[in-house]
Parts: sequence; structure tokens; C-alpha cells
Amino acid sequence: MGEFELIRQYFHRAASGPGVREGIGDDCAVLQVPPGQELVVSIDTLVEGTHFLPQTPPHRLAERLLGAAVSDLAAAAATPAWLTLALTLPQADPDWLEPFAARLAERCHQLGIALVGGDTTRGPNLVLSAQVHGWVDCGQTLLRRGAQPGDRILVSGTLGDSRAGLETLLYPDTPSDTTDWLQQRFYCPEPRVALARALRPHLHAGLDISDGLLADLGHVLQASHVGAEVELGCLPLSDALCQRFPEQAQNWALSGGEDFELCLVAPEQSVERCLQVAAEQGVRLTSVGRITAAQGLRVLDAQGQPQTGLSAGYDHFKEMS
Ligand code: ADP
Ligand code: MG
Repeated sequence: MGEFELIRQYFHRAASGPGVREGIGDDCAVLQVPPGQELVVSIDTLVEGTHFLPQTPPHRLAERLLGAAVSDLAAAAATPAWLTLALTLPQADPDWLEPFAARLAERCHQLGIALVGGDTTRGPNLVLSAQVHGWVDCGQTLLRRGAQPGDRILVSGTLGDSRAGLETLLYPDTPSDTTDWLQQRFYCPEPRVALARALRPHLHAGLDISDGLLADLGHVLQASHVGAEVELGCLPLSDALCQRFPEQAQNWALSGGEDFELCLVAPEQSVERCLQVAAEQGVRLTSVGRITAAQGLRVLDAQGQPQTGLSAGYDHFKEMS
């Protein structure tokens, strides 16, 4: 199968959407951002052996690639619009391409993003890059800077599940519903697009959690020139995580990577409203701490005592993520 035949056969799905004047097939896609909106762009790459285990099922790679990329749009409080896809493949294997393309198209529809172009090359290792484009009302893109002392730190969903899902893949044992659920959390991030957009007017800052809460909150603190206190007892943990990995649950919630939940910073007086909006959407939103004028990130136990020696967890995981 030639390159053009491959593109025509597999990647002409999910190819139309708002603002697409020319999609796949010409030298450039021609795209129109609606009046009054600013363009936001982000790219993510998955390398076999570095970001995913060899033999990962192709449909899993599609949902993982797209979920992680669109999560960056959610983190900016953007509306997803367009996707470009760069693939480096060892061979043009229909048994790989068909399930990959089918799941990619399905998730594109669900997430409201159109595949408008890309690049397909042959190479020794499987490498997948997704560039995503979205838009936000001019001046309203949610950034990492802007957190202020006294603000509260809110986290969507539950933390640590993805790290637990990875553990069940690295060290498989008896399959169970819990294992399936944790692996789903690992493979198929559910970007919090609607939540971020609805909360945007109430927020000072935010990002998505890809390297663990402590590491990513650290980025907000650095960009905003503030510090924070996180309460260990407030971390949102799933029942599945607590049942399956009771010993590691807290550590993975703090430092496990790739949850693709949102870490949001809101002024105290907006917190109630934020929790209401999240409840209306059926999304868990939890206050886990507050921003402080004092620099540094402190994790407090139930007695309000600072914990030490917590950074090792996420450094170790980083080598694998
Ligand atoms: P060029 O040589 O001009 O870069 P290509 O031959 O690489 O063009 O690609 C032909 C068309 O197919 C272009 O519109 C390109 O955006 C699109 N395309 C190539 N690979 C992919 C892919 N993996 N997914 C979606 N579109 C693709
Ligand atoms: Mg090309």
C-alpha cells in the first residue's frame, strides 16, 4: 500500500468540522478561527518503549494519544477544533492501522475535533505525534500564572488511578473489574473540556495533571510566584485505587503521572460556585489546599504537620513516563 492510499483509506475519517475550509489532501489545511477567538495550540508525542509498552493495542494508543493532547486544550479552557497527526510506522500493517484509525475517528467525534492533516513516514520505531488546536474567547485562555495567596486549589476527578493502571499492566495478576477500570483510566484520559470552559470565569489559573499533582502544581507556583499547602487527607482517591493499592494510593495521588485531571486555582469566594457547576456536570471537584504567599509546596497531614521526603515518588515515575 502506497502512502497516499494509506492516508485515503485510514485517515479521511473525522475530517470535517467547524472552521475547516480545506482539510486533508492539499499542501496545507486551511482553517478559520471564529471572530473574537484566539487560537491555542499544543503537541504531544508518544514513542514506543518510552511512553508506551511495545505490543500496546493500537486502539489504546489512539485514545491515549488524543486524550492526552486534548487534555492540554481543556487545561487552557479551550474548545477543541482541529487535529494534525504525524505517524512514523515500521510498516503499513492494516491489522494495526484499521483499529488505530477507527478508534481515533471515534474519539475525534466524541471530543469534537476534526483531523485536518498530518504526515506519514516509515521509521524503525513507532512514534505518534498529535498536534491539537482550539480556540478561546480573546484574552480568556487559562494560564499557569495568576494564582494569588488565599486562593483555593481544586482538583477534578480522582488522582493516582492512571499510575495504578500502569502497575497492573507491568505486573499482571488476576483480571478483575477494578483492574479493567484502572487500565481504562490509564489508557483513555477523559479531557475535562466542558468543566474547564464552564469554570473559566471563576478561575485565576490552572493546568492539567500529567506529571503528578505535586510536580504540576509546582509549575503553577513557579509561574505565579507563590507557594501552596496541600492537605493529604483531602486528596480525591477512587474506591478502585484504595481497594487495589491501599499502601500506594496516597503517594500515587500526589506523584503518579498521567491522570490528565485538572488542577485549578480559584479565589475563595468562587469555590462554592465552582463546586456547584461541577456537580451539575456530574464531575467530582475537590478542594485539596490553598495558595500561600510563602514560597514552596507543603503537604500537610491530618494534624496539619508538614510531610517530608515526598518527591522521590514522582522522580522515579518520570523515568518511565
Ligand atoms: P506533503 O508531501 O505535501 O507534505 P503528504 O504527501 O505528506 O503531503 O500528505 C498528503 C496529505 O495527507 C496532506 O494533506 C497531509 O496533511 C495529509 N496527511 C498525511 N499523513 C496524514 C495522517 N497521518 N493523518 C492525516 N492526514 C495526513
Ligand atoms: Mg508531508
